[in-house]
Amino acid sequence: MTNQDLYQKDKENYLPTFNRFPLAFIKGKGSRLWDANGKEYIDLLAGIAVNNVGHCHPKVVEAIQKQTAELMHISNFFVSPQQVALSELLVKISGLDRVFLTNSGAESVEGAMKIARRFAHKNGRGGKIISMQNSFHGRTLATIATGQEKYQKGFEPIPVGFSQVPFNDLEAVQSAIDKDTAAVILEPVQGEGGVIPVEKAYLEGLRKLCDETGVLLIFDEIQCGIGRTGKWFAKDHFGVQPDIMTLAKGLGGGMPIGAFLCNEKVAEAIEFGDHGTTFGGNPLAAASAIATIETIAENQLCKRATETGAWLKEKMQELIEKHEELESIRGLGLMLGVKLKSPGAPLVKQLLEEGIIANATAVNILRLVPALNISKEDLQIFLDKLDEILIETKITS
Ligand SMILES: *Cc1c(COP(=O)(O)O)cnc(C)c1O
Repeated sequence: MTNQDLYQKDKENYLPTFNRFPLAFIKGKGSRLWDANGKEYIDLLAGIAVNNVGHCHPKVVEAIQKQTAELMHISNFFVSPQQVALSELLVKISGLDRVFLTNSGAESVEGAMKIARRFAHKNGRGGKIISMQNSFHGRTLATIATGQEKYQKGFEPIPVGFSQVPFNDLEAVQSAIDKDTAAVILEPVQGEGGVIPVEKAYLEGLRKLCDETGVLLIFDEIQCGIGRTGKWFAKDHFGVQPDIMTLAKGLGGGMPIGAFLCNEKVAEAIEFGDHGTTFGGNPLAAASAIATIETIAENQLCKRATETGAWLKEKMQELIEKHEELESIRGLGLMLGVKLKSPGAPLVKQLLEEGIIANATAVNILRLVPALNISKEDLQIFLDKLDEILIETKITS
């Protein structure tokens, strides 16, 4: 079946909630993807910051194939060597003490907020959660309550106990905290909100404020974690440790798996039966996450993301100086956002026609979140195509 056949079929049966491109992908390898018509693409989206080690990394494929043949699922009534090993790895690279494995980002955030409330109630506080304007923490009912209004419209009643403050504004969060505040949640680099890194002084101030008030600090590293910014976690750029941290996206190398982690102080408030999941951290998902983390470590992909990101930023800067349409570039490692003078959707479409997959977020931010091991050659092809497109649109407009 062709792209068009599959696109039409999808329209017949799937809930019409995604505004999809008329493209179907059938094969991937590293940073290359092939559509159903046989056209090849360079992937700068990586399944929205998921395929951090590239598509179908041989080590991840092998781990999944092996685990599938041995044992896929047992329920969380029992222990598995894969879950044990993954938890140990996550504790080691995060500096946090306890792990709970989930199936997605939103589920990780829900779990994080639940344990924050449990801790708060045990310590005589209310359960209110403060989040940041323009944040994104998922699409479940409680996670939409933390974020942007556009995701809440039509889904009222929205869960109560949530409020938003401006990002990078310490005074705002200071005045929002009261005796009923359980936690403050933020993305150390806002992803969907437009690739906006947190300011170091703000994060340090927030840590101090939370310590003084007894409020828990939650980092949502679902998009910026797992090597994406050139360190295991974006928090490592700032030297600030949260009480709770959420993960998903890049964790499984393409397999759906998430996690939330916490320190011992928070873990002590949790009792038997307080939280659960059927699939979370099953042997198959855990095996893929172990292989993904090992691949990043063995190939020094954090270091590589730092170097490649710096190179790409420099090259992009040259294009920014050349083309009026491009305004600036920001971000850390290989989590980059190019600010455009106009909405990014038409450019994304033109890039797709040229065989480049990128994405626009927050309307006019071209988001670049390729695999951490993408080659400079592939990125140079992207830069050349972008240059060509911008030269052409200048002539025609
Ligand atoms: C993608 C994302 C989520 C939601 O993850 P899902 O797996 O789609 O539920 C939450 N937080 C952040 C920062 C994200 O980027």
